[in-house]
Amino acid sequence: LFVEQPLAEGATLNISGNSAHYLIGVMRLKEGAPVKLFDDVSGEYLATVTETHKRDLVLTVDAKLHDREFTPDLWICQALIKKDRFDWIAEKACELGVARFVPVLTARCVVDKVKEDRLRAHMIEAAEQCERTALPVIDPLARIDALLAKWPADRTLYFCDERGGEPFSDATRPGPGAVLIGPEGGFTDSENAAIRAHPCARPVSLGPRILRADTAAVAAISVWMSKNGD
Ligand code: SAM
Repeated sequence: LFVEQPLAEGATLNISGNSAHYLIGVMRLKEGAPVKLFDDVSGEYLATVTETHKRDLVLTVDAKLHDREFTPDLWICQALIKKDRFDWIAEKACELGVARFVPVLTARCVVDKVKEDRLRAHMIEAAEQCERTALPVIDPLARIDALLAKWPADRTLYFCDERGGEPFSDATRPGPGAVLIGPEGGFTDSENAAIRAHPCARPVSLGPRILRADTAAVAAISVWMSKNGD
């Protein structure tokens, strides 16, 4: 279970709201039950339920189990697509271990706003399910031109381009990376040219078929993780 409060051995936590509902209502935990907690800062801890009430419960933090996980240094820069598929990408990116999620606004995006707290909620749920002890950082929405202008010089930008590029599995190289995926309608010609002109960009192909953006996102992250993920 993810907790916002920083964890330390011996700490007492009052859990309420959705987390309490999940532990009491869904998991039906009683006093004495063990719970694994993480705070996205100091790692994973074992705790015990010491009191249960109708809408909240009290946990005592017993022991530290693991440090916060090593997170592979991969970002996903994802053009906005329809909400439910965009949320799905956020959830899968978290499960697959990315470090940072960068929502991107491009000319053909049919959506132009993103709710970071909704993305974070999907990521917390995914992390709890796959037992990650670190959550991806979610960046504020960035326009593609601004993102390129401030791109960090040490980070390879794997530009996933259905128009063609090196097979991604051959193109990955050690060091910080990012995968860039377009919207349902793809990048415009001028966006494509601007991305390709960037010194950190490497156009890569995920195969001969045109994938949905959400399929491309999962495929790209998986290819990179298979080479650099541990
Ligand atoms: N231009 C596409 C078309 O003609 O339908 C629309 C873009 S595609 C649905 C969404 C995004 O997925 C693309 O912008 C690209 O980033 C990525 N993508 C899809 N297929 C790909 C492939 N085979 N290789 C690399 N990236 C791909």
